[in-house]
Amino acid sequence: MLPDPPKYQAWRRRMVTQLKERGITDARLLAAMQKLPRQWFCPDTLLDTLLYDIDCAIQIDCNQTISKPYTVAWQTQLLQLQPLMTVLEVGTGSGYQTAVLCEMGARVYTVERQSVLFRKTKALLGSLHYTARCFLGDCFNGLPEMKGFQYDRILVTCGAASLPTGLMQMLKTSGVMVIPIGPEGNQRMHRITKKGETPDLWHDETLGDANFVPMLEGKNFL
Ligand code: SAH
Repeated sequence: MLPDPPKYQAWRRRMVTQLKERGITDARLLAAMQKLPRQWFCPDTLLDTLLYDIDCAIQIDCNQTISKPYTVAWQTQLLQLQPLMTVLEVGTGSGYQTAVLCEMGARVYTVERQSVLFRKTKALLGSLHYTARCFLGDCFNGLPEMKGFQYDRILVTCGAASLPTGLMQMLKTSGVMVIPIGPEGNQRMHRITKKGETPDLWHDETLGDANFVPMLEGKNFL
């Protein structure tokens, strides 16, 4: 078992209070973030006072970042998740968001294109007994391992230049995708509800500014 000192549990209580003050109301989400030790997903070298700062994104391997706790909460709340829903997460990164989704009872499939992160995070999630299925790939052309499968929810944790229509095909009818879209430095969070197969039936809500690492194509085998 990895450590979770009482000090961190107290900091998580403060984090959850601050998330509520910012408008996060999803009770199962708040319970998951209260329970889950974020330090397990962060580099050991990190100054621990930053761990539960709701506005602090944290640098991880391969020049990627774990989103701020507020952003994790905001995106997850937008998903309107119910237990047992299938969720495709694009951008496994540290696995923190993956674990939040698992704690909320979702059946999670997560994809990462950086092989270093994929291997490390798959091992970490396994050691913590999360059953999320981890894939190495980029999702642009679908996952060969999951051909034909459609998800209830898709959560993209990297910024797309435009809406990836391939991802929309992986969403069930009446499914919801939450995705930051736009050029780096000028992204907006979108929630897209798929009311039918054709783009005129994709209800697109633009919900506020976002700042994510870019969504890139191809695998990185380094
Ligand atoms: N959800 C993560 C956030 C990681 S940052 C967490 O909680 O830690 C976004 C991640 O998306 C990075 O690890 C990056 O390598 C990955 N990424 C970027 N483009 C991708 C793509 N096309 N497919 C899968 N992962 C991608």
